[in-house]
Amino acid sequence: MTKRSDDWAPATKLVRGGTMRSEFGETSEAMFLTSGYAYDSAEQAAARMSGDEEGYVYSRYGNPTNQMLAERLALLEGAETCRITASGMGAISSAMIAPCSAGDRVVAASALFGSCRHICSTILPRYGVETEFVNGTSLDEWKRALSKPTRLVLIESPSNPLLEAVDIQAVAELAHAAGALLVIDNVFATPILQKPLDLGADLVVYSATKHMDGQGRVLLGAILGKSEFIEEHIDPWLRHTGPAASPFNAWVVLKGLETLDLRVRQASANAAQVAEVIANHPNVKAVRYPGRSDHPDYAVHQKQMTSGGTLVAFSIKGARAEAFAVLNALDLIDISNNLGDTKSLACHPCSTTHRALTEEEQAEMGLDESWIRLSVGLEDAGDLSRDLTQALNVL
Ligand SMILES: *Cc1c(COP(=O)(O)O)cnc(C)c1O
Repeated sequence: MTKRSDDWAPATKLVRGGTMRSEFGETSEAMFLTSGYAYDSAEQAAARMSGDEEGYVYSRYGNPTNQMLAERLALLEGAETCRITASGMGAISSAMIAPCSAGDRVVAASALFGSCRHICSTILPRYGVETEFVNGTSLDEWKRALSKPTRLVLIESPSNPLLEAVDIQAVAELAHAAGALLVIDNVFATPILQKPLDLGADLVVYSATKHMDGQGRVLLGAILGKSEFIEEHIDPWLRHTGPAASPFNAWVVLKGLETLDLRVRQASANAAQVAEVIANHPNVKAVRYPGRSDHPDYAVHQKQMTSGGTLVAFSIKGARAEAFAVLNALDLIDISNNLGDTKSLACHPCSTTHRALTEEEQAEMGLDESWIRLSVGLEDAGDLSRDLTQALNVL
């Protein structure tokens, strides 16, 4: 029997949601490392394959461990259903490509994760789908771009790396008026701090590689939304193109979820404390943290996020050489382009995650060589603050 209760608080959903016990009564979720399934009879095989009988047929279509994870995530997000994929990009590319046909139009915020931007700017046009990029923080730009019929809108909020806010509710209304489906990459906010479906989004996508695993071990992705839409548009794509998740990775994330609420809350508290220390350092020009009132998009973040999250961006006095000097002086914090880990990680977006953008495109986003992005983990906030202070002191 699957345990499912929409009334549970998030912490309970994360520990108990979706659990299916086998005949052995194991307390921890079982890992079903199997690609295939055996049938009692040829008749049963035929009934399973035709869909007349429910049950597993092949792990590209479904697997019990993956199903436990999908149910836990759907319960947490408040979504009708969830599909999991081999990586975050497997989820996002499927959510974008499967609903679109040649001649369709996509509108996306220009501040996107690099690979999402590549899909919009390079892959989709080859199949006759054009993307218009807008400044995600400007409702006027959204209004103009969504005055034409549109198939799909893609946004990220908070965005990468400057943690800008897109007003999800306002963009959802404009997107729906244009006939578009609103897809939100909710990785930076996590399902603990922001609920895009309640704000009008149609599909929410995640890289579970980040906070959901949360310990930097495996790649995984998720797509959440209405059953009817996912069954009609997403399932045929996933089944026949094959971005199926490994049950081992799904099991790792299932166990990671049990502590997601605790980890995200603590990392957010650490991030708020560290952001304050960074903001007060004389070698820092600006700090961007969604939970601070000096963030340009504070009002929108306040409206849709319950706390500031685990990421901080800051601009140092100087350019690439000085930013590199600060990163190289970090002792405790690692230099890494990953995020959402228990270990705090810092990177220089212009030379790593955002290197594919031209200088003009970076400038349009307000990004220059002086910015550092910090993913705050679960080390002691005092130790993190001391490490950042001594690194900033080298300038
Ligand atoms: C990491 C990330 C992705 C891609 O996820 P993978 O699991 O690496 O494929 C997409 N969007 C955002 C915001 C991310 O941080």
